[in-house]
Amino acid sequence: MKTLDEIKALSPDSRAFAAARKQANPAKWRRLGRDGDALWGVGVGSKGDTYAVFASGDRLACSCPSRRQPCKHSLGLLVLEAEGHAFPEEALPEGHRYS
Ligand SMILES: [Zn+2]
Repeated sequence: MKTLDEIKALSPDSRAFAAARKQANPAKWRRLGRDGDALWGVGVGSKGDTYAVFASGDRLACSCPSRRQPCKHSLGLLVLEAEGHAFPEEALPEGHRYS
C-alpha cells in the first residue's frame, strides 16, 4: 500500500494530486475491488460515463480520455486505499486487465 506522500510523488503535479484526493470518495465509484495485489474500480465521471481503473504496484491504468497520466482516477484509487477504505475481494472484471 502506498502512502499519501508516495501517491503525491506519482502525481504529474500538485493539482493532479488534489483532484485525486477528491476522487477518493466512494460516491464517485460504482464498484471497487481487490484482486491479489491489484486494486480496481469502476469510476463514474461527471456526465455519468464510467471508467475502468486499475492499480497494481506502480502500474496504473484507466480507460478515461485524460492525457495526464497517471490520471486522477488511478491515483484516487490509491488514495482510497491509503485512507483505509475497504476493497472487497473480487476478481478483476472483463476489460480491467491492462498490460
Ligand atoms: Zn482516468
